[in-house]
Amino acid sequence: MILINLNGAITDAQDARIPVLDHGFLFGDSVYETLRTYHRKPFLFTRHFARLEHSANAIHLNLPWSRERTFAEVLRTLDATDASELRIRVMATRGPGDLSPDPDSCADPNMIIIVGPVPQIPRQAYERGVNVRISSFYRSVQLAEAKTGNLMRQVLALREAKAAGAFEAILLTPDGQISDGISSNVYLVKNGRLRTPSREAGIVAGITRRVVLELARRAGLEVFEGLLDRREIDSADEMFLTSTTREIVPVATVDGRPVGAGAPGPVTLGLMEAFRREIEVLIQED
Ligand code: PMP
Repeated sequence: MILINLNGAITDAQDARIPVLDHGFLFGDSVYETLRTYHRKPFLFTRHFARLEHSANAIHLNLPWSRERTFAEVLRTLDATDASELRIRVMATRGPGDLSPDPDSCADPNMIIIVGPVPQIPRQAYERGVNVRISSFYRSVQLAEAKTGNLMRQVLALREAKAAGAFEAILLTPDGQISDGISSNVYLVKNGRLRTPSREAGIVAGITRRVVLELARRAGLEVFEGLLDRREIDSADEMFLTSTTREIVPVATVDGRPVGAGAPGPVTLGLMEAFRREIEVLIQED
């Protein structure tokens, strides 16, 4: 079941209403975060809220709620559900205005929390690795770091990936550098070194990415953050993805061609195990 908290009022999904003239609806003029619970507690809430503020600043939107108010409302919404682990989307829309995209016509942003089950991924995705597709849609580097509702390229990239039987699409920059997935960060392993696109490649700086890079460094792996040409995939030993809801997912094939041995490799498997252990530590953090 999905529950919605709209400006503090908690309802079932079908009873939550947003005005059609909300610029979030008309123009994708909104910002959002996706987080999840472990042991029914929001995981790394403060880091997610900081990124929401960063996104809001990038589009000159004043968030109507403070960190404290948002946290309290998230907890209140979680308390109204009885599912075990939950996915939490926190979003702010520009609010109702006129038909021009001018944000100055919008006085009242809407704050929305959507709580529902964490999407389940088949166990074999983690055990055998997934197939991903290199998208024909490019990642725009401009505003990439702001998580906004304006996601048409991602909508079409996902449609394309699903049609090809792929688990996720990898978006490239217009000049062929690896950026990120539709909703995940991308990593290659080559000769025991971890390589991942940097912010210059138009990525969203994933909360999971930061944890994984820290775990990799702690394990003594050399980590490179920079620009990665798509051809590096052809000679990589391992590849994996990370995101809040999916954690670390090994990639077995790209467009049907095996990466390395075409199965989860030792570096990926080691990081998956380290990440599972780290959750129990990080869950203490607000
Ligand atoms: N890249 C994009 C484009 C995303 O939407 C997401 C999901 N927020 C990520 C990467 C992964 O970020 P996180 O680890 O914070 O979920």
